[in-house]
Amino acid sequence: MNYSCLITLNEKSIENNVRFLQKKLGSKVVLSAVVKANAYGHGIEPMVPLLSKYGVKHFSCFYYSEACRIKQVLSAPSTILIMGYIPGNSLVDAIRSGFEFFVFSMERLHETIHVCKEFQLKAKIHLEMETGMNRSGIDQSKLPELIALLKENTEYIDLVGFCTHLAGAESISNHTRIQRQVKNYFKFLSSLQKEGVEPKIRHMANSAAAFVYPKTRLDMVRIGIMLYGFWSSAEVFVQYLARRVHKTDPLKRILGWKSQIMAIKKVKAGEFVSYGLSYLAQEDVVTALIPVGYASGYSRSLSNRGKVLVHGQICNVIGLVNMNMIILDITGLDQCSVGDEVVIIGKQGEREIKVSAFSDSTNRLNYEVLTLLSPEIPRKVLFLS
Ligand SMILES: *Cc1c(COP(=O)(O)O)cnc(C)c1O
Repeated sequence: MNYSCLITLNEKSIENNVRFLQKKLGSKVVLSAVVKANAYGHGIEPMVPLLSKYGVKHFSCFYYSEACRIKQVLSAPSTILIMGYIPGNSLVDAIRSGFEFFVFSMERLHETIHVCKEFQLKAKIHLEMETGMNRSGIDQSKLPELIALLKENTEYIDLVGFCTHLAGAESISNHTRIQRQVKNYFKFLSSLQKEGVEPKIRHMANSAAAFVYPKTRLDMVRIGIMLYGFWSSAEVFVQYLARRVHKTDPLKRILGWKSQIMAIKKVKAGEFVSYGLSYLAQEDVVTALIPVGYASGYSRSLSNRGKVLVHGQICNVIGLVNMNMIILDITGLDQCSVGDEVVIIGKQGEREIKVSAFSDSTNRLNYEVLTLLSPEIPRKVLFLS
């Protein structure tokens, strides 16, 4: 290894996950691959061409800058949808590039029409409606104005999508709230249709909704976390398994993370290790220094708690996680030397460190652990069965 650490991406798992999702969703539902936050930390540049290779033709991201990166690495004709932020002065470039985007407020609609009139363009928009999440989306009270604007500006506005986002389909405790959102969505849709305004693609589901509430699949689903091999929550997974004969996980993890030993040291009983007083050696210990820290995405909350694999054995992180280093207790491991492989996420021998091991407390943490992985870490694509 010429680098401090490496993220591996298993192409076979990508193929597996895309095939599973396509099979479950059927040919009538478009699978939009959500690749925001650097493809959930996996890397936009390696992931997008691989997803494309296995048949994904629709990509969703959050920022205009991400859309540009996706476009750069795509060779097959595909749709790129920006679900979030486009700076005002990039709107014209976004439209010229053929990017589709969420119109999440009346201000954004006015601005879009203005730009299109000025430069004689037609924008491909997805109306995002406020159905009850109270985050982004156009309010019901704006419907008359919205319909009028859409009818007046058909020359400038191509109404591609009509969508909303559900506020937590991965948890049964949100059931009532989700049902109300779905109802509101269809109410808004019929208001538009009554006026002869017909969006081409109706969509609202993310991974959790697509599986927990299959009726929300409509014309398209925006799938993020499942593509990368994770279920949105334990609840969603258990619910899926309950209806199956074979109780095995159909999804496969794509990402692995490994590093190597940088130095080895003996520390005497009674000594503190690393900054401060957080780790006191109770007996003589052998430590290994690993060139990975919170700047790489190894959370500081894993101080004295993290676990990694060396020689197929689980080793504890001792002391505080530093900016660029962690220290392991490798006491008792035979013949460790500098350069030996350390697995931070993934398998080594018979054992595996899962992303979920980073914390078993919250299901949201999977997303967080992944998206905090530094984009500077090199990504290497492998094909492992
Ligand atoms: C992130 C996101 C998704 C994907 O969510 P997953 O839970 O990862 O499937 C879908 N839609 C919107 C608007 C999002 O922001």
